[in-house]
Order: sequence, then C-alpha cells, then structure tokens
Amino acid sequence: MNIHEYQAKKILAGYGVKVPRGQVVFSVEEAEEAAKKLDSGTYVVKAQIHAGGRGKGGGVKLARNLDDVTSHAQNILGMTLVTHQTGPAGKVVKRLYVEEGCNIARELYLGLVVDRGSSRITMMASTEGGMEIEKVAAETPDKIIKEVIDPAVGLGAFQARNLAYGLGLVDKQVSKAVQFMTALYNAFIGSDASLVEINPLVVTVDGDIMALDAKMNFDDNALYRHKDIAELRDLDEEDSKEIEASKFGLNYIALDGSIGCMVNGAGLAMATMDIIQLKGAKPANFLDVGGGATTEVVTEALKLILSDPNVKAVLINIFGGIMRCDVIANGVVTAARDVNIKVPLVVRLEGTNVDLGKKILAESGLAIISADDLNDAAEKAVAAVR
Ligand code: ADP
Ligand code: MG
Repeated sequence: MNIHEYQAKKILAGYGVKVPRGQVVFSVEEAEEAAKKLDSGTYVVKAQIHAGGRGKGGGVKLARNLDDVTSHAQNILGMTLVTHQTGPAGKVVKRLYVEEGCNIARELYLGLVVDRGSSRITMMASTEGGMEIEKVAAETPDKIIKEVIDPAVGLGAFQARNLAYGLGLVDKQVSKAVQFMTALYNAFIGSDASLVEINPLVVTVDGDIMALDAKMNFDDNALYRHKDIAELRDLDEEDSKEIEASKFGLNYIALDGSIGCMVNGAGLAMATMDIIQLKGAKPANFLDVGGGATTEVVTEALKLILSDPNVKAVLINIFGGIMRCDVIANGVVTAARDVNIKVPLVVRLEGTNVDLGKKILAESGLAIISADDLNDAAEKAVAAVR
C-alpha cells in the first residue's frame, strides 16, 4: 500500500525522523490558515498525489509570503498533475501540503528497501539527491552507496557512519545523520514498510539534517496489524478497476495493452502475459481469478476486463486442477451472455473435465474461439487483435 507524503512524514516523525513542520489542506482557505499558523518566513505548497516528480511537473512551489501561498494553492489544487510516474493522463490534485520553507545547503538521497539479492533490508544513500534514483542507478551506479543490514542486529552505528562519510558529511552532521538513519530504520521495521525513500534528504544552511520528501510503501500482508496505517488508504489514488477487483477477491493489475487476460494462478497469469508479448501483442491486465472462482466471480472478472476500452480481445486461460473445466466453461458462457461481449474471446481450457468444458463452450452458440494449448491460444488472441 502507498500513502501520501504528509502521511509518511507524520509516521516518520513519530519515530524521531526530522521533518519540516507542515499541514495538510483541502482548500485554498485552509492553505492560507495553515500558512498563518506556521508563521515561517517562506512556505512550500506541495501537491499530494501518489507519485513522485511533482516538482518538475509544477506541483511543488515556493511561496515567499502569504499572497504567494494563496496563488500557488489556487493553481495547484484541482490541477491535473502529469509526472513521469503518473502516466500521460496525470492525476487530479485534491489535497495540498503546506510546509515551512527550508534553507537548503545540499540535497541528498536516502532509501531503505528490501533487497531480494541479499534477502535483507538495505540502506542506500547517494549524493545525487533530488534526481530520479533509477537514473542514477542506471547511469552512475558508483554514486549509490549501500549498507546491507543484518536483521538480528539492526542498523549498526558504524554502518550509518559509513553512509554519512560516503555522503561527504562532516563534524556534527555525522552524528545527526546517524540519528536520522537509525530513526528511519526503526520506522521501517516498526511499520512493516517495504520501501522508504527520502529524496531529498537535506543538509540545511544551519547544518541540520532533515527529510524534505518522504515516500513509504507497506507490505500489504502486514497491514492487519497496523490499522492506523491501513486507514490512510486513499482510494482516489488507486485504479478504479483495481478497487472493484479487490471487492471480489480478484488479483487484478491494469496494464496498457490490448489483450484482456483471465487466468487462474499467478504463475500461469505471468506465463500468459509473457507469451502474449512473445507473439507480438501486449496484455491489457494481469488477472488471477484464484483457485475457487465461481460463475459470479468469472462474470465480474470478465466485466472488469471489458470495462477497459483498450481491450480488443480476451484470452481466458484456465488450468482446471482443483477447479473443474465444466464449471469454468459454464461461468464463461453465462458471463459472456451477461455482459454481451463484442470482442473476440479466445478460451484455452486444460485439466479436469476438459472435454465436457469444451463441449459446453462449443454448444453455447457464442462466437468463442477455442484453443488447444497456451501457444495456440496466444497466437489466436494476437491474430484476433490484428
Ligand atoms: P517530488 O520529488 O515529487 O518532485 P519533493 O518533495 O522532492 O517532490 O520536492 C521537489 C523539490 O522541491 C525538492 O527537491 C526541494 O528542492 C524542493 N522542496 C520540497 N520541499 C521543500 C521545503 N519544505 N522547503 C524548501 N524546498 C523544498
Ligand atoms: Mg522528491
């Protein structure tokens, strides 16, 4: 799960991570009120959306006085913010964060990730703050320094010092950075995060170390023990089809191709997407209907796939293990009739009661293109969208 910057900063501050003072607001009037209360010399008005790159897109503005706050809030609130992470459609800004302005001496990067290579939480730092870290990693990987953390010991002070020295910090900045990193690590562990990114981490003109931006992702499997974090979910920021899917227990991820996929099992769903690509087209979604899909769930899944205007053909790929192929076939027929499907529907069934399943499809009177195996199914689906 993803949260907003202001929410992440609040969680982090609770663990002792230093952040500027700020207030979330939902209107221009609230923004003015918040700025008056902050009563700092300068302010920053920041769009709150679940995407980075807001600054470049015009969603982060420095205000030198209260009038600036008003005009920036008027401009940013309600704007469609396009960044490299929102996609070309952008995101409508519905909340703002009004924060005290910070006197920046240096912008650095600090992140915590679960590194699958070492199977450990890893702290990453870079002098290239404010940049897209993916770019730094690709172009100048030597500018990223890492400390792999032993889960039994936690982040060692010597590791934090290594990172601080690597960032070129000196004197009192080093102990402040060690404190900052330790608090950040504690926040990561304490909230069952899967990612924490501080970009930029700044050294202020006064020699303070603080987080000017904060991104946190959480492990969904651990959310049950963090009710307070689960409540921070902002449905406005999520794909409406994915929200609909989660109501029916479907694992659905929207993608931008033209072939809608309905598959049982995440592994088979991945293989199906791969083979569609191999045959020269792109999947419109990832969808795992799970092992115990009923007719109702199959219908909902098909509706969901067809609600995407980019879908030009649907590929249903089901391996009936626990699930019987005749149940699936009945579900597909009912669903196809229910939603009055207009695009080609390719169905590949395999497994228990496959012959009965195919017979049901053949006798349904629907224009279903039956396929024998995965290869055949992918070729037929790709041919159908051509
Ligand atoms: P994004 O990463 O989405 O562009 P950031 O929060 O990193 O958004 O803000 C972009 C830039 O704006 C930062 O790199 C920093 O230079 C500046 N900035 C952000 N917050 C403040 C602040 N409170 N005071 C001064 N400058 C800020
Ligand atoms: Mg940033």
